[in-house]
Amino acid sequence: MITFHGRGISKGIVWGPVFFVRHNQAEASQPQGDFNAYQEVERYRRAREQVYEELEQVFQMAYVRFGKEQADIFRVHQAMLEDQEFINCAEGCIVNERMYASQGVATACKVFENIFAQLPNEYLRERSGDLREVTGKVLQALSGIRSSSIALPEYPVIVAAKDLLAADVVTMDPKRILGFFTKHGGATSHLAILARTMSVPFVSGIGEDLGRMPQDIQALVDGSQGTVILAPSQLTIREYSQKKQQLLQKQQRLEQLRRKPCVTKDGTPIHLYADISRPEEMERVLLDGAEGIGIFRSEFFFMNYSYYPDEETQFRFYRRLVQGMHGRRVVVRTLDAGADKPLSYLPLGEQPNPALGMRAVRLSLRDPQPFVQQLRALLRAGAYGNLSAMVPMVISVGEMKQVRGLWERAKRELEQEGQLYEEQMELGVMIETPAAAMTADLLAPYADFFSIGMNDLTQYTLAVDRTNPELAQAYQPSHPAVLRLIESCVEQARRANIPVQVCGTLSQKVLVEKLARLKVDAITAPPGELLERKALIRSLDLSEPGFAKAQP
Ligand code: PEP
Ligand code: MG
Repeated sequence: MITFHGRGISKGIVWGPVFFVRHNQAEASQPQGDFNAYQEVERYRRAREQVYEELEQVFQMAYVRFGKEQADIFRVHQAMLEDQEFINCAEGCIVNERMYASQGVATACKVFENIFAQLPNEYLRERSGDLREVTGKVLQALSGIRSSSIALPEYPVIVAAKDLLAADVVTMDPKRILGFFTKHGGATSHLAILARTMSVPFVSGIGEDLGRMPQDIQALVDGSQGTVILAPSQLTIREYSQKKQQLLQKQQRLEQLRRKPCVTKDGTPIHLYADISRPEEMERVLLDGAEGIGIFRSEFFFMNYSYYPDEETQFRFYRRLVQGMHGRRVVVRTLDAGADKPLSYLPLGEQPNPALGMRAVRLSLRDPQPFVQQLRALLRAGAYGNLSAMVPMVISVGEMKQVRGLWERAKRELEQEGQLYEEQMELGVMIETPAAAMTADLLAPYADFFSIGMNDLTQYTLAVDRTNPELAQAYQPSHPAVLRLIESCVEQARRANIPVQVCGTLSQKVLVEKLARLKVDAITAPPGELLERKALIRSLDLSEPGFAKAQP
């Protein structure tokens, strides 16, 4: 029995025989004869075309097996394949450095991987996994290998691999997959998304290449703890089957709360909204009875493009969000690019201190044209449901005056063009800086609601970098300084008669209780935590002094 610890990506416990996926390694075979840059560029172009077509087939298969939301992953891969900056880099290596096509592509991949690896934002960092996936396919095509589907055994197995690609999984029969574990991979990879959609356990990053293990060896995967046990003993299986039973019972108890109101024991209602980063999460959010989406970070949509998506593309996307939520509230945050979320097509220049630099609303106001485009798209989508917008990283009334000016300009333009749009759409202000919290009374006239961003408000109040693991202890969202700012902000909001919601990481139970006592109107939670958050709120009794014991 050997135990490996990795990262629990998709919850659940499962045991059974393992099927190790052993990929064909693309041999970097070079053409015979003298080096010819023109020919190499041509080979690269043909390989790209082949991969584009293969991805089209994978898209179709994913569409049938998992639905459009999941299939769209492969549209993103196609866009990466076509990314002009990447192509320029690879072709530049071929032409200027006289590299063979495969070397040029591999070099460009390393260049871009290094750029991704330095980003502090996990979602962005993990896009390098997608890049590796797409590049790997191009290298295979250059070596004359065509992608083929992975044939699983006739019986259900735990699929294990060094690196498993989302495209590989799409070609497998889902009925034969019990779970996954991999040597590499992270929480926001597309495989992770697929595993969660399939509701099978997945542990990534176990750090060991188990490729030499015999096929069919038994394993146990605990996706909640991030544990993989090879050749588990009967005793271990018994222990885990009890644990599985307990988890199941807890889940069933939580599921009974789906249609119950989110209200404390003493009758104080607190709205519970979801915090999502992909539209495919809406299904789960609706199932778990969330009242809507409290924050959709629009940069996650922008990151799927290598150019600024035009108004029409944005409009269709936002409309899909509102229509998908069937009349429930949806709050889209305007572009919060910069700092830990750079966009290749929004050049920022050298930023000596990115977290305090050109980012979020500052960037939107620096380039009003694309910002107005986003506002127009939002206003148009607002006509199809209950949509609101909110502005990140505000520090002054001056900024909000400008934002409101552009908001009105967008409306005027749409009016003149005879376009359908929501004239009464709400525009909120995010309270993410001490400056905004302390001037909440001055900002209130420009805000239809406040949305406190706990992550940034904590970072900027305590001067503690939210992305620095060494400072994890010092990063305290329930620090009295942060809570005092929230308290004063809620008070000002009450005076101005506008609601306050709280977004960001609220995983500390005690923090949720403190926020409830500070009388915030709404909080958000990621899709997988909605029911636990509701259970916690329902266990609070705010009429009692001090802090009530929170039940899980
Ligand atoms: C926050 O700062 O709390 C927030 C909700 O925004 P983000 O995490 O995207 O910065
Ligand atoms: Mg923020």
